[in-house]
Amino acid sequence: MIDVTETWFSETLHPGFQQRFEISKILFRSQTELQDLVIFENPYFGRILALDGVIQTTERDEPCYHEMLSHVPILAHGAAREVLIIGGGDGGALRDVLKHKSVDRATMVEIDRSVVDMCAEFMPSLSDGAFNDDRADIVIADGVKFAKETDRRFDVIIIDSTDPIGPAIPLFSDEFYADCRNILTDDGIIVCQSGVGFVQPDEARETYQRLNRLFADAALYLTQVPTYAFGYMTLGWGARSDRARKTDIATIQSRFDAAQIETRYYTPGIHAGCFSLPAYMEI
Ligand code: SAM
Repeated sequence: MIDVTETWFSETLHPGFQQRFEISKILFRSQTELQDLVIFENPYFGRILALDGVIQTTERDEPCYHEMLSHVPILAHGAAREVLIIGGGDGGALRDVLKHKSVDRATMVEIDRSVVDMCAEFMPSLSDGAFNDDRADIVIADGVKFAKETDRRFDVIIIDSTDPIGPAIPLFSDEFYADCRNILTDDGIIVCQSGVGFVQPDEARETYQRLNRLFADAALYLTQVPTYAFGYMTLGWGARSDRARKTDIATIQSRFDAAQIETRYYTPGIHAGCFSLPAYMEI
């Protein structure tokens, strides 16, 4: 059960540590058949989505996460046409993927329809119209099953999931990553959220090791999301070759300029530096 009094949302992140968010107003709350979903208003971070007691995304700082999850692989790849997002029901990753006019189709496979519907209604700034984009293909299904059964191929796969609890547990497995590798094009890239390295070192390390077993080029990269307490948010990277990750900053800059995308966190300079890890995260 999550601790939601009428005025504070408490998130227990680690034994002995909680962070609290004042609740100005609860906009929606339900126990879906999959997870406990709440969307509430906070005076500083705006509207906030939490699932099973874990803050997922807030209007104020979500670009720090969605931009790095989307623009880094797409600008590194350079010619991504087909993008798959597994999870991401709030629509933030879908919005940022579709900012790239070079993308022909973005397929979002989200297991819980309530997340899509409630975020569209109560947090529309995240999807920002992406759910109605002609290039968006919204699939309500288990991403594990989709990756195993689809006959389509993707240039970029983005795993924008919850942490490995509930329906997301199988998304953190060798079998699922192997299925994702099988539906990537030859030059494809997979990226995935893999926790806050300072307090979830196992999630980051295990994600890297899993990717390293399956891909010629595996890495972790970083972003900083204020509401994901304890410092850097770790993102996993896997690719069949290191070509994309070694793209020089001048090329990234020219692709970024050509894409004419406005960002609040991502810059080509951040892109160039985000694969450098602090000593405590060295892999
Ligand atoms: N974008 C947010 C963030 O900043 O971390 C959170 C990601 S999004 C809300 C996480 C989504 O993953 C949830 O909507 C959840 O329903 C979805 N999810 C969990 N397990 C899944 C699965 N097996 N297949 C598809 N979607 C899944």
